[in-house]
Amino acid sequence: MGKGNGNGNGNGNGNGNGNGNGNEVGTGADNPSVFATGAGAGTGTGDAPGSKWTADLLILDHLPKEFFQLGPQELHQLFPGPTLIRLLSSQRPWFFVSTLLHGNETTGLKALQQLLMEYGSNLPCSLLLLIGNPAAAAQGLRSLPGQLDQNRIWADGALLATSWAQALLKEVLAHQPMAAIDIHNTTGRGEPYSVITHLNAEHMFLAREFSSNVVHFREPHTTLVNALGEHIPSVVLECGPSEGDEKRKDHLLHYLKALFSRSNIGQTSLVEPGLHLFESQARVFVGGRFAFGPQGSGGLSLDPDLDLNNFKLLAAGQLWGTYESRKDFEFLVRDTQGQDVTAQYFDLSNGEIRVRKPFVPSLITTSVPAAQEDCLCYIMKRI
Ligand SMILES: [Zn+2]
Repeated sequence: MGKGNGNGNGNGNGNGNGNGNGNEVGTGADNPSVFATGAGAGTGTGDAPGSKWTADLLILDHLPKEFFQLGPQELHQLFPGPTLIRLLSSQRPWFFVSTLLHGNETTGLKALQQLLMEYGSNLPCSLLLLIGNPAAAAQGLRSLPGQLDQNRIWADGALLATSWAQALLKEVLAHQPMAAIDIHNTTGRGEPYSVITHLNAEHMFLAREFSSNVVHFREPHTTLVNALGEHIPSVVLECGPSEGDEKRKDHLLHYLKALFSRSNIGQTSLVEPGLHLFESQARVFVGGRFAFGPQGSGGLSLDPDLDLNNFKLLAAGQLWGTYESRKDFEFLVRDTQGQDVTAQYFDLSNGEIRVRKPFVPSLITTSVPAAQEDCLCYIMKRI
């Protein structure tokens, strides 16, 4: 799923979306109204002005009004696969915003729905809006079963060439946006923070305006901001957990509102007072039989409150989990070169996993699927 949508002529997606006439449109008429009145994707008319398919990417030049009425699990009715919506506001610079690359991370969508509703036809900027994985969102999943993580498809020649990612990058960079914002949620508990792949003043501006906690990383190098960050100021906004906190959505909303009204990107020093800048050093992977909480006989039982340690300096000796047999599970720390550095950070002995030397973790998850699909956490160093 998420593949096999028609391109060129013929829609072939089986969803009744009227995209299939193959007309190539430009970047859109200078349409002050961003809201379509029904023509377009989702109407099943077979004739959608201002829409086209490139690879498996649907590109629209309007925002269907149904966009505002659909929750993350229903959005696929409108956008069956990855969709880029181009909203041109005359003489205003472009910004690129991505949400739902991970289908179960929904704060970005909710904030953008509210913000675009507030703007109505008075967009303060031109906007390229990516809805990354609505098919996974429909099922409340990060990615569909068997599907590659959609935030790990943005590099490595052959992979890029065979996916919609290449079409998206080409389209976005052609518009020379002032900045790229990729919005995510964490599965573990924790406060919002920013992530950048390039250490310079403009990237830092985007990050610092969102949070005083900023993580710099290069690996995994296959993320969207790795690819875009080569060309334009880019940031990942980690908004904390998807559910349960309106304050986090409002925080994001205020950030986006302030950003979209700017005519240039500011500059923030990498050594600004109050800034906590971390470098990702390694990732912790778990596999085999493990659970957060009691595992029963065999396997690894990890502390279910592990995520309360995000962005805290951990003391040597802290207990992370207990086990009966090393044969039942894997617990591995790899540095950015892929080397096994488990013994530097953890002591696995006498049926216990304990921190060996102090470090600061981020993105700790206490979700088994998230830990399996990505990793248990990142290990960071203050820089
Ligand atoms: Zn994510």
